[in-house]
Amino acid sequence: MSGDPIPMTDAAATPPATSAAGPATGQGSAAGPVVRIQGVDKTFSRGGRVVTKALEAIDLDVAQGEFISLIGPSGCGKSTLLRIVGDLTSPSAGTVNVNGKTAQQARRDRDYGMVFQAPVLFDWRTVEDNVKLPLEILGWDGPRRTARAREMLELVELSDFLQHHPYQLSGGMQQRVAIARALAFAPAILLMDEPFGALDEMTRERMNSEVLRIWQQTGTTILFVTHSIPEAVFLSSRVVVMSARPGRITRIVDVDLSQPRTEDTRESRRYFELVTEVREALRAGGDDLDDAGTVNGTASFGRTTVEGAAG
Ligand code: ADP
Repeated sequence: MSGDPIPMTDAAATPPATSAAGPATGQGSAAGPVVRIQGVDKTFSRGGRVVTKALEAIDLDVAQGEFISLIGPSGCGKSTLLRIVGDLTSPSAGTVNVNGKTAQQARRDRDYGMVFQAPVLFDWRTVEDNVKLPLEILGWDGPRRTARAREMLELVELSDFLQHHPYQLSGGMQQRVAIARALAFAPAILLMDEPFGALDEMTRERMNSEVLRIWQQTGTTILFVTHSIPEAVFLSSRVVVMSARPGRITRIVDVDLSQPRTEDTRESRRYFELVTEVREALRAGGDDLDDAGTVNGTASFGRTTVEGAAG
């Protein structure tokens, strides 16, 4: 995958086949699922003693081009599940297959792009040079790197900021640079862990629309961790609802809102019905919600900062 990126211009001209609920919804496809998670458990141990059972009996198939959100209370294992898919940690039991390979092989093949809550950009490099970084590591030659970085920065509408440094950008713009960098080598799957959790509400809503546009233009399969019910419903083709420790999938809500989703979507009756459905599914799992539809607590910021470099 890494050596043969999708030309974004062509991908933009030919969006993925869309249904009412977006590209390729539902379980599996003729070519089989992009991600198949079967019987995954995860326990964390210390000194040979299990201290946390983080995940239990997780089964999930993700089809090509789906946008899947994982939602649940803090500590229910959402990030751990994403990290298992991305081969940043291994399951204690069960298997993960990505494009028919092990997660480890998929990571080696650069099938993943990763975006975390903290954008993890290098302040001493320009915006353009930050996006070029993974391509440098892959050994792309200079002109190819430049062309690709500029194409990606155009995709996230930052062409006017190529020579800026990250500290000169707003939080939302920094996160767009991180998305451009993650997409630079055309990964088959984009793993996003609370990417907009540190942004204010209005910026977050704008970023939600941005990420949907990028998803439609590239056809990338996205796994997205969030605490926000409105965000999960607005973005996803399916919302995977998880219960508290040990994290289990208690419900999968199909989001049959039409594409493209716009500000009007947020005011539609069906949107409110789906937000209610997800909220009730979370409550049935025993979760606390606040008035903004946010599941209790916030993401663990420190760990995502460190791991952002892995993307
Ligand atoms: P979420 O993303 O849903 O907030 P996490 O996946 O971060 O949840 O964590 C799930 C559970 O696993 C939590 O109880 C957390 O404390 C624990 N956990 C996560 N990572 C580690 C680790 N490296 N060592 C020990 N416990 C961990």
